[in-house]
Amino acid sequence: MPPKKNTAKKRAAGGSAQRIGAPLGSPPASPAPAFRQVSVELELPIESHSVVVQRPNIFFVCLSCHTQSTLGASPAPYFGFYHDKPPAQGGQAVLPQFLRLNGKFEVASCTLLSSTPIAVIHFIIGAHDEVITPVPLLSSYLQHFFPNGGYMYLEVVFSVATHKQIDEYTRMQEARVAELTQHLGRTGRAFVFFSNHSEQDSGWLFAGKVKGKFIAMSVSQVLCTVLRPYASTLKGAHMVFLVCGSVLEYEDPFVELKDAILELMVASAVIFSATRFQPLVATNFLLAMAELVIVEHLDLRKAFPTLLSLSSRLGQHSKVILMTLDLAADSPRLLVTTFARAHPQTQPWGVEVPAQCPTCGSTNSWSEKVAVLAFDESEDVDARDRATVASYLYSCTYPDCGKNQGAPPHKISINKPPGSILNVGRGKTNNWFQSPSTIFPPPASVPPSSVSSASFDTQDKRASSSDGNHSVLISLIPSMSDWYNSFEEILAEYKDDFLEAKDPESTRRRQVLRTVRDAIVELQETQDNPVDVPKALKRAIRRYYFQFITDEDDRQAEEEILEGDEERDQSGVSPEEREVNARPKEAFFYKKKLIDWDVALKLFKQEIDDYDKEEQRKMGVPHSIKYRTGHARRWFNNMTSAQRKEVEEARDKWNEEGAPPESQAIYRKRNLKKTLENFSEEIRRTMG
Ligand SMILES: [Zn+2]
Ligand SMILES: [Zn+2]
Repeated sequence: MPPKKNTAKKRAAGGSAQRIGAPLGSPPASPAPAFRQVSVELELPIESHSVVVQRPNIFFVCLSCHTQSTLGASPAPYFGFYHDKPPAQGGQAVLPQFLRLNGKFEVASCTLLSSTPIAVIHFIIGAHDEVITPVPLLSSYLQHFFPNGGYMYLEVVFSVATHKQIDEYTRMQEARVAELTQHLGRTGRAFVFFSNHSEQDSGWLFAGKVKGKFIAMSVSQVLCTVLRPYASTLKGAHMVFLVCGSVLEYEDPFVELKDAILELMVASAVIFSATRFQPLVATNFLLAMAELVIVEHLDLRKAFPTLLSLSSRLGQHSKVILMTLDLAADSPRLLVTTFARAHPQTQPWGVEVPAQCPTCGSTNSWSEKVAVLAFDESEDVDARDRATVASYLYSCTYPDCGKNQGAPPHKISINKPPGSILNVGRGKTNNWFQSPSTIFPPPASVPPSSVSSASFDTQDKRASSSDGNHSVLISLIPSMSDWYNSFEEILAEYKDDFLEAKDPESTRRRQVLRTVRDAIVELQETQDNPVDVPKALKRAIRRYYFQFITDEDDRQAEEEILEGDEERDQSGVSPEEREVNARPKEAFFYKKKLIDWDVALKLFKQEIDDYDKEEQRKMGVPHSIKYRTGHARRWFNNMTSAQRKEVEEARDKWNEEGAPPESQAIYRKRNLKKTLENFSEEIRRTMG
């Protein structure tokens, strides 16, 4: 007899059972038709057809195959049974009607379930309850996916602090490894947990107890001893370390950990960063991992955002580090990626805002964050005005903060690190931030000390080329946005003067601005390494003080001034920049030969709009679109010779080149200067 086929099933609480009309032992009634017992989800049009479809030369297409073959193409009725060959190759339907689908498409995101043997191996220090973990729960959950066998749970308790213990441990594993190897066969895979403590001052792992006391040893020593007997079964396994985060905090232990993972050739490893990690908090995450990765065979790296979104409150407790084996390179390597919970007020981009003000000791005293924006001048018209947040500012709201020290209330700034917010969270407060992956071992040219900041290969960058500009900006932020940190004392000294003036146009406020600017410039000149300050320094100072203005009228007046400044800026752009910015992207714009008028409308849109507004204001009529063309004509006829020249040059260029090339590299490069200038000047505040 052939061995029972191992299949993994999601078992539902419902199902089919034999129905009887009388107590067992009564005389038998006629048996139910065979087909009904085979499938509860599909119904033949007429029961007698069950004989027809069991003839030879009948080709059956399962619902999954049918769905897959029609999804991308056009829809088609599902007949299930075909003569000789599948419908795609011209097979004719056997039955006169389609098959009726009684069930529904179920929750599984894929139809491939693991039918290969699975073993959950749980390595645990000391005693089975020394570390409290969700592994037993996971095991009993997984076990039910394998009603016909194919599942095995192995708990490996270790204590390997002395030579005697090591010998004993190694000897004891022989029989179990043999059993495990047989279970897994050639295709089986292991889902491995390693539950242990780590020593918080060194990151070493606990090896076992000697005279009732735990002994810690180096990570490589412990992993080597414990895992070596199982090495042959761990290849391709998914491994989860339920260990305190100290292992990650120290360089050597973390390197040893990664070395071990690489050497074992496990497919992936997951580890948590919380210093006092509590494995039970990861239960939801691990259940999702068991279901999606172990049973459904989804790629762990691709499914990871989903796992995180299902992880409940794990993110409030710990960051999650994913390491996956990459065999595509010349030699095996690990891709290491950190995921952290992102919360706009307490942990933007996964960077924690301190719980306590370091100046006054208040807790929960931070103001609503103030976003410092970087403007992203991308080629996408919609995105052009979309600003990206470069950093968040928080100030202490305790009224006496800094009084004893004679300092202004404490302020902290959190800069956006490289990386991106995953698009999986439910709402703003439950999101995850993914840092760029690093490679282990680090590429030869990179000195080991900068491993953690080395960014993952160019593929990643290409994938996110749409924010190429953005990443450039980010790297410049520290020097650009921190000017006010560097001159904080000066800014603080004049803050009250500025606020007391209460009117942006007042001589007093202007005077304050001048004084502050002069003081900053003077100090800057004495610096060995002068801090970059925005070119339009007075305006930047205005913007800085703006956040402290509480008087409503004053605020509004300042806002108008700041906005007005921006408009004036626009007319200050160079002809080249104007041309690049104004050039329409849509190919249809270039279909007919462009004349000066077409080009001027694009190139000087702002100027024409302003002129139109001004003229309509003079006319004293309500603003109306109907005068616009007339005003535009008049503006066009009165262009300065410089403007006319710009129009003619752009006209020739646009007619010759057509729509701008899709490769936006050139565009970006040209715009970089402007973007950076804009950025340095447009440090704005928004509440949010
Ligand atoms: Zn099929
Ligand atoms: Zn404070």
